[in-house]
Amino acid sequence: MYNPKSLKAEEFINDEEIRATLEYAEANKNNEELIDAIIEKARPKKTETGCVASGLTHREASVLLACEIPEKIEKIYEVAEEIKLAFYGNRIVIFAPLYLSNYCVNGCLYCPYHLKNKTIPRKKLTQEEVKAEVIALQDMGHKRLAIEAGEDPVNNPIEYILDCIKTIYSVHHKNGDIRRVNVNIAATTVENYKKLKDAGIGTYILFQETYHKESYLKLHPTGPKHDYDYHTEAMDRAMEGGIDDVGLGVLFGLEMYKYEFAGLIMHAEHLEAVHGVGPHTISVPRVKHADDIDPDEFDNGIDDETFAKITACIRLAVPYTGMIISTRESEAVRSKLLRLGISQVSGGSRTSVGGYTTEERPHDTEQFDVSDQRSLDEVVKWLMENGHIPSFCTACYREGRTGDRFMSLCKSGQILNCCHPNALMTLSEYLEDYASPETKAVGYKMIEEELKRIPKDKVRGIAEQNIADIRNSNRRDFRF
Ligand code: SAM
Repeated sequence: MYNPKSLKAEEFINDEEIRATLEYAEANKNNEELIDAIIEKARPKKTETGCVASGLTHREASVLLACEIPEKIEKIYEVAEEIKLAFYGNRIVIFAPLYLSNYCVNGCLYCPYHLKNKTIPRKKLTQEEVKAEVIALQDMGHKRLAIEAGEDPVNNPIEYILDCIKTIYSVHHKNGDIRRVNVNIAATTVENYKKLKDAGIGTYILFQETYHKESYLKLHPTGPKHDYDYHTEAMDRAMEGGIDDVGLGVLFGLEMYKYEFAGLIMHAEHLEAVHGVGPHTISVPRVKHADDIDPDEFDNGIDDETFAKITACIRLAVPYTGMIISTRESEAVRSKLLRLGISQVSGGSRTSVGGYTTEERPHDTEQFDVSDQRSLDEVVKWLMENGHIPSFCTACYREGRTGDRFMSLCKSGQILNCCHPNALMTLSEYLEDYASPETKAVGYKMIEEELKRIPKDKVRGIAEQNIADIRNSNRRDFRF
């Protein structure tokens, strides 16, 4: 029985409800009147205090995803961009993954870290090595990391992960520091989630991989990850453990995308129904080539157009949720998706253990091939040349604006007064400390223009003063 408020995986990700949804979507994919009404419902509306968007139910969003009428798809893209600009502005948050260990006891068929892979070298960073990686990341300009590790209770116990987080936060190299550590590790217990919360993590990220239970069991034939219910119910345990910000994701290519999409939106609805706050982020990874993995062996690969449509439909369905695209995707794909709702990108990424302190690529411990191999400086310059403000801001996390407090900031349209100046100030720090002369020139031109968009009052004055101070090497670590 479908019940979004239930804590049982089979009830909140209910197979029968997903199938009924897909039938409903198929039956209505040419129903222009209904499609127009759904798109209109998703459009952001101005209010006295800001802007609101209602989002869409999984059934409504699935109708849009099924629709193949070109003019309607264009309209969906238009509204996706409107929502993005209304709630996230033209800011793009920057982060990098940090691989701690590729020891893993699971048997995931799409991942080269699976236990039976005897050719891939196994590596786990020591605390000294973590420090060296963090210094390399700080020297690039990163302030926000997502740590990644395989699941292995002996090699990567929670104590190891906690030690690494402590080390990461303790490194202050030149003007650098890591201000937010997001964590992407296997599903765990409430007790361990509490420990992660106490260690000061940002978002807890766990990809569902696939919501289709039968496929899930086949794709994860061995190891603790085989337990579909335990994996699917992980976000509820994380929230029970006090983690406010959780990040969902599907590994596209494993199963039929329409099924995954409905499951993903139902998962978001479930979190909202039970915990009063939806997912902080949604990631949209696609399966990539890796050591002993050939993506063509999976039957459900999706083309770039479908991928764009999925991204836009997620944007309409959950307007307040951040969306992440990694360097699994090429510059061209990332460029297109940035217009359709993406709010976070990684840059200069290495997906190998110890990759930031090794010169040459590819590395033998890589989890998957990186398509966008540009340096962070190149990514930052490219974003600005395309009208996006690269943001290194972590103020919400540092000010305790997580969970529903972040959502209310987003909903009250305070972006221009808060996130926008914060983004410009952190960009200025980046330009001073790490950018090439060309990027710096493009950056300050952008900052000058963007400051004018902040209402000419106290906020703008403070932001201008802070940026002037940063340029004069007079840092005060100020944030709105
Ligand atoms: N071991 C943890 C877990 O099970 O959730 C951490 C996650 S893993 C380091 C990060 C993510 O990479 C996985 O959740 C999976 O979706 C993705 N991934 C694995 N193999 C991949 C591949 N061949 N191509 C693209 N993404 C892949």
